[in-house]
Amino acid sequence: MGQPNDPTGDYTQINAVDWIPFPPPLCQGNIRWKLLHVSPESGRWTAIFDCPKGTSFNRHIHMGPGEYFLTKGRMNVRGGTDAGGATAVAPSYGYEACNARHDHTEFPEDSEFYMTFMGPLNFIDEAGNTVALVGSREVLGAWQAATAR
Ligand code: ZN
Repeated sequence: MGQPNDPTGDYTQINAVDWIPFPPPLCQGNIRWKLLHVSPESGRWTAIFDCPKGTSFNRHIHMGPGEYFLTKGRMNVRGGTDAGGATAVAPSYGYEACNARHDHTEFPEDSEFYMTFMGPLNFIDEAGNTVALVGSREVLGAWQAATAR
Protein backbone atom coordinates (compact mmCIF):
# COMPACT_ATOMS: atom_id res chain seq x y z
CA MET A 1 0.00 0.00 0.00
CA GLY A 2 1.23 3.51 -0.77
CA GLN A 3 0.82 6.59 1.34
CA PRO A 4 -2.74 7.67 2.15
CA ASN A 5 -3.79 10.71 0.13
CA ASP A 6 -0.96 10.29 -2.36
CA PRO A 7 -2.15 12.52 -5.24
CA THR A 8 -0.34 10.35 -7.76
CA GLY A 9 -2.57 7.41 -6.93
CA ASP A 10 -1.89 4.03 -5.47
CA TYR A 11 -0.79 0.66 -6.78
CA THR A 12 -0.36 -2.67 -5.07
CA GLN A 13 0.82 -5.96 -6.55
CA ILE A 14 -1.31 -8.11 -4.29
CA ASN A 15 0.94 -11.18 -4.28
CA ALA A 16 3.82 -9.01 -3.05
CA VAL A 17 1.96 -8.26 0.19
CA ASP A 18 1.83 -10.80 3.02
CA TRP A 19 -1.48 -11.85 4.54
CA ILE A 20 -1.88 -10.92 8.19
CA PRO A 21 -4.50 -12.20 10.67
CA PHE A 22 -7.68 -10.15 10.82
CA PRO A 23 -8.15 -9.08 14.46
CA PRO A 24 -9.71 -12.04 16.34
CA PRO A 25 -12.34 -9.98 18.20
CA LEU A 26 -13.90 -9.20 14.83
CA CYS A 27 -14.20 -12.70 13.40
CA GLN A 28 -14.34 -16.42 14.13
CA GLY A 29 -11.56 -18.59 12.76
CA ASN A 30 -8.40 -17.70 10.92
CA ILE A 31 -9.48 -14.91 8.55
CA ARG A 32 -6.53 -13.04 7.03
CA TRP A 33 -6.48 -9.76 5.16
CA LYS A 34 -4.41 -7.33 3.11
CA LEU A 35 -5.19 -3.62 3.36
CA LEU A 36 -4.91 -2.22 -0.16
CA HIS A 37 -5.91 1.42 0.18
CA VAL A 38 -7.31 4.01 2.55
CA SER A 39 -8.73 7.44 1.72
CA PRO A 40 -9.07 9.13 5.12
CA GLU A 41 -10.56 12.25 3.52
CA SER A 42 -13.56 10.23 2.37
CA GLY A 43 -13.55 7.42 4.93
CA ARG A 44 -13.13 4.89 2.16
CA TRP A 45 -10.96 1.79 2.53
CA THR A 46 -10.28 -1.25 0.42
CA ALA A 47 -9.05 -4.67 1.42
CA ILE A 48 -8.92 -8.27 0.30
CA PHE A 49 -9.85 -11.07 2.70
CA ASP A 50 -8.85 -14.73 2.82
CA CYS A 51 -11.61 -16.70 4.56
CA PRO A 52 -11.01 -20.43 5.05
CA LYS A 53 -13.94 -22.84 5.19
CA GLY A 54 -15.90 -22.43 8.42
CA THR A 55 -14.82 -18.87 9.25
CA SER A 56 -17.17 -15.95 9.77
CA PHE A 57 -17.25 -12.26 10.56
CA ASN A 58 -18.81 -11.14 13.81
CA ARG A 59 -22.03 -9.13 13.86
CA HIS A 60 -21.64 -5.70 12.27
CA ILE A 61 -23.42 -2.79 10.62
CA HIS A 62 -22.07 -1.07 7.50
CA MET A 63 -22.05 2.65 8.38
CA GLY A 64 -21.61 3.37 4.67
CA PRO A 65 -22.26 1.32 1.56
CA GLY A 66 -19.77 -1.19 0.23
CA GLU A 67 -19.06 -3.13 -2.92
CA TYR A 68 -17.38 -6.49 -3.12
CA PHE A 69 -15.99 -8.93 -5.63
CA LEU A 70 -15.99 -12.52 -4.41
CA THR A 71 -13.05 -13.97 -6.30
CA LYS A 72 -13.16 -17.48 -4.83
CA GLY A 73 -15.56 -19.67 -2.88
CA ARG A 74 -18.92 -18.91 -1.35
CA MET A 75 -20.19 -16.31 1.11
CA ASN A 76 -23.45 -16.43 3.05
CA VAL A 77 -24.62 -12.91 3.88
CA ARG A 78 -27.43 -12.43 6.39
CA GLY A 79 -27.61 -16.20 6.85
CA GLY A 80 -27.54 -17.01 3.14
CA THR A 81 -30.33 -17.66 0.70
CA ASP A 82 -31.90 -20.35 2.92
CA ALA A 83 -32.43 -17.80 5.71
CA GLY A 84 -33.71 -14.96 3.52
CA GLY A 85 -30.28 -13.43 2.92
CA ALA A 86 -27.94 -13.87 0.00
CA THR A 87 -25.49 -16.57 -0.93
CA ALA A 88 -22.73 -15.25 -3.17
CA VAL A 89 -20.97 -17.77 -5.39
CA ALA A 90 -17.66 -16.82 -7.00
CA PRO A 91 -17.12 -15.04 -9.24
CA SER A 92 -19.68 -12.56 -8.05
CA TYR A 93 -20.25 -8.90 -7.37
CA GLY A 94 -22.30 -7.53 -4.50
CA TYR A 95 -23.43 -4.21 -3.09
CA GLU A 96 -24.27 -3.73 0.57
CA ALA A 97 -26.32 -0.66 1.40
CA CYS A 98 -25.57 1.91 4.07
CA ASN A 99 -26.83 0.59 7.44
CA ALA A 100 -26.89 -3.01 6.26
CA ARG A 101 -26.75 -5.22 9.35
CA HIS A 102 -24.98 -8.55 9.06
CA ASP A 103 -25.52 -10.89 11.96
CA HIS A 104 -24.02 -13.84 10.13
CA THR A 105 -21.45 -13.60 7.34
CA GLU A 106 -20.10 -17.11 6.87
CA PHE A 107 -17.85 -18.97 4.48
CA PRO A 108 -18.91 -22.59 3.92
CA GLU A 109 -15.85 -23.19 1.72
CA ASP A 110 -12.41 -21.63 1.24
CA SER A 111 -13.17 -18.13 -0.06
CA GLU A 112 -11.58 -14.83 -0.93
CA PHE A 113 -13.13 -11.44 -1.59
CA TYR A 114 -12.13 -7.89 -2.36
CA MET A 115 -14.21 -5.07 -0.88
CA THR A 116 -14.33 -1.28 -0.81
CA PHE A 117 -16.03 0.19 2.25
CA MET A 118 -17.41 3.75 2.06
CA GLY A 119 -17.25 4.24 5.81
CA PRO A 120 -16.66 2.28 8.98
CA LEU A 121 -17.94 -1.07 10.09
CA ASN A 122 -19.69 -0.93 13.44
CA PHE A 123 -19.14 -4.29 15.15
CA ILE A 124 -21.94 -4.80 17.67
CA ASP A 125 -23.01 -7.24 20.34
CA GLU A 126 -26.35 -9.00 20.37
CA ALA A 127 -28.05 -5.97 21.99
CA GLY A 128 -26.68 -3.63 19.34
CA ASN A 129 -23.98 -2.02 21.51
CA THR A 130 -20.77 -1.06 19.71
CA VAL A 131 -17.89 -3.46 20.30
CA ALA A 132 -15.52 -1.85 17.80
CA LEU A 133 -15.85 0.90 15.21
CA VAL A 134 -13.56 -0.02 12.33
CA GLY A 135 -13.01 2.76 9.81
CA SER A 136 -10.22 3.93 7.55
CA ARG A 137 -8.11 5.33 10.39
CA GLU A 138 -8.52 2.21 12.51
CA VAL A 139 -7.66 -0.19 9.69
CA LEU A 140 -4.64 1.89 8.72
CA GLY A 141 -3.44 1.91 12.33
CA ALA A 142 -4.00 -1.83 12.68
CA TRP A 143 -2.26 -2.54 9.41
CA GLN A 144 0.76 -0.33 10.20
CA ALA A 145 1.08 -1.85 13.67
CA ALA A 146 0.91 -5.39 12.31
CA THR A 147 3.35 -4.84 9.47
CA ALA A 148 5.89 -2.62 11.29
CA ARG A 149 9.36 -4.11 11.38
ZN1 ZN B 1 -21.09 -7.03 6.15
